[in-house]
Amino acid sequence: MDTCMKERTRFAPSPTGLLHIGGVRTALYAYFLAKQTGGDFLLRIEDTDQARSVDQGVENIVHTLQRLNIQPDEGVVSKNGHVTEVGEYGPYQQSKRLTVYAQYAQQLLANGHAYRCFCSRERMDQIRKEQQQNKEQPKYDRHCLHASDAEIEAQLTANVPYVIRLHVPEGKSIIHDVIRGDITFDHREMDDQVLMKTDGFPTYHMAVVVDDHLMEITTVIRGEEWLSSTPKHLILYKMFGWQAPRFAHVPLLLNADRSKLSKRQGDVGAEQYLDKGYLAEALVNFIATLGFNPTGDREVYSKQELIDLFDLKKVNKGGAVVNFEKLDWMNKQYMQTMSGEELSRRMHAFGLVLTPDQYRFVDIEKARATTLKDLADHVRALLSLPDYDPTLLVWKKSDAHDAREMLKAAAGYVKAYGDINILAEFELSMKEWIKTEGLQTGNILWPMRIALSGREVSPSPFELVYALGTEETLHRFEVAIRSLEGTR
Ligand code: GLU
Repeated sequence: MDTCMKERTRFAPSPTGLLHIGGVRTALYAYFLAKQTGGDFLLRIEDTDQARSVDQGVENIVHTLQRLNIQPDEGVVSKNGHVTEVGEYGPYQQSKRLTVYAQYAQQLLANGHAYRCFCSRERMDQIRKEQQQNKEQPKYDRHCLHASDAEIEAQLTANVPYVIRLHVPEGKSIIHDVIRGDITFDHREMDDQVLMKTDGFPTYHMAVVVDDHLMEITTVIRGEEWLSSTPKHLILYKMFGWQAPRFAHVPLLLNADRSKLSKRQGDVGAEQYLDKGYLAEALVNFIATLGFNPTGDREVYSKQELIDLFDLKKVNKGGAVVNFEKLDWMNKQYMQTMSGEELSRRMHAFGLVLTPDQYRFVDIEKARATTLKDLADHVRALLSLPDYDPTLLVWKKSDAHDAREMLKAAAGYVKAYGDINILAEFELSMKEWIKTEGLQTGNILWPMRIALSGREVSPSPFELVYALGTEETLHRFEVAIRSLEGTR
């Protein structure tokens, strides 16, 4: 454990579309740290870039986290299927906090830490062009920094639109990153960042600092793409006279070829994997252990274990390669340990509703399925017998007459055995009987398999009898025997 202090952490996505797997990993780490220390995990929506926000973006984030069973303690949450807010530090959606940012921007202006910039788009384009030609880093030339009070007044009176820029001081900022250690940034390389846009909306930099401070965030966990923004934030903390939180920048997720994980290589939305029938537990385990392994000796960890064992210092500094075959494997591991009843409940989402006497189908199929969707398909296939070609019933080394005789014998045995309580006992006992009767295993088990499933690939005939029950088993044998009449 990093500290005994109760941590307040946040996940602060922008509602720009699907919740990316990388976003979920960031959210999970923030969640684990809060839970481990008995603190709070917040969901804040960063929607100050209205052009990038999409309809349903907020609902998507909230509901996907809920489906993953990662419930925020505070902020934007889902209650009875509706998106709402809980907590005393709200509103938690930045577009509803514009007056808060305006007030802090005024404070920076008053203290000389920020200045109004009235430069037109044309002028800005011109500067950029010249800098490009001179092979210089594009940067604002501080034209408006030195404007006199009278000049500013005149522009304000004339209603010239303006942005508010941070006056970056000389010096250096050191980020003490929990994952990466100390990183020093020289302010000389920094632009006078826009803090407030002409429309009165804050930029990300302004809003994130004000909110993380006011919401009393103790550790900021976010993707490494934000690392270069952090020095600007440190400057703002200093100018406001606030103590900065701890920072941890989580490395990127990569494709197998080490390019940045993107939509082009396949699905990257967490919701898409839930919809495909991956269990929330497996997905959480998989995503949390991308570039992080708590004990190094295994792969499967429950959520509680991840909470207890989470350690930001153990998160790898390098990008983590995402291998979706591992997710398949992990999902299978989780399915194996779940009861037929539990898996049946989860399969409702895939249109399969079973009665308790049908849970055995799930038990016998779960080892062969990768996802809940597969499992539902496999179980559905066993619930009703498909039309199959009767010649399939005949084992390759045998004939129709023999197949019929074997099925009759099997029916006799199953009837005499009665209800099966323990599958292993039934299997043992029937195998014993096959041996004492001097029957050939393939000769009897093959027609049994086809008669009960209609398929060449299925669970074992013993499992099929166990799941179907005596009555349905005898009925399917009967159908098979009849279909063999007249076949040679
Ligand atoms: N709004 C940023 C995003 O969409 C969050 C950055 C942060 O956590 O500070 O990823």
